[in-house]
Amino acid sequence: MSSIEGKRILITGGSRGIGEALVRTLAAHGAKVAFTYRSSATNAEKIQSELEAAGHWAKAYQSDAAKYEDAEKLVTAVLEDLESLDVLINNAGITKDNLMLRMDESQWDQVIETNLKSVFNLTKQVLKPMMRNRAGSIINMSSVVGVFGNAGQANYAASKAGIIGFTKSIAKELGSRNIRCNAIAPGFIETDMTDAMSDKARDTIVSNIPMKRLGTTDDVAKLVMFLSSDDSSYISGQVVSICGALNC
Ligand code: NAP
Repeated sequence: MSSIEGKRILITGGSRGIGEALVRTLAAHGAKVAFTYRSSATNAEKIQSELEAAGHWAKAYQSDAAKYEDAEKLVTAVLEDLESLDVLINNAGITKDNLMLRMDESQWDQVIETNLKSVFNLTKQVLKPMMRNRAGSIINMSSVVGVFGNAGQANYAASKAGIIGFTKSIAKELGSRNIRCNAIAPGFIETDMTDAMSDKARDTIVSNIPMKRLGTTDDVAKLVMFLSSDDSSYISGQVVSICGALNC
């Protein structure tokens, strides 16, 4: 297993789902993990206290990833606690699905601001500390929907495709500073997002996945561990799909 012992990591949207699994796994493997939530304060505090009780370092911060000023304040506070940052994981994301004919401006704006603008907001804040360290790994949570599109998700697909263009550009711009930037494109992963599906919809999806199962948050956490570690030190500008061969 790749070593992330002592890495200082910031994760957005760590209070539930994939983000929660990332916080728990990375902290349990010796990283110092700062993580954000928007509204799930009780769950975020529970995650922090359980990890602290187990002797790990994790701290929750309330911060809206869609707001530039929140990102500025957040990274200032995290740097006071951790002194520097080795890894940024832009994970926070939402869906507001609708067919294009019915999609309103607010559904478009909320998804683009939370999923895409957040990646700009946070990346902007961590660049200087990473440049001072002459090292850094930025991991952006995209989706297979950003690669292949999906009916009823034009806003979400646009936000996740935007993340891919951003990721490749940052990798080229900052490669000479030893700052890596990669995107992960999960397929269907078991979380609150997928729990909301009916049994019938779930069965249809599983039957279309060549590996005949949804992914787990643990599957994603193992990939994130690798991209956070020095074992991936020559991997940058890539989109790594984790989707059980769906849409490959
Ligand atoms: P989830 O269970 O709905 O959790 C979303 C997390 O993001 C929560 O911690 C939530 O915080 C946080 N969040 C949402 N808006 C935020 C904001 N404005 N500021 C800060 N935090 C915010 O979602 P998930 O399924 O784990 O998905 C995580 C990421 O993976 C997303 O980017 C998603 O698009 C992507 N993804 C998921 C799947 C899947 O199958 N699950 C597939 C492909 C890609 P609160 O709890 O406070 O609301």
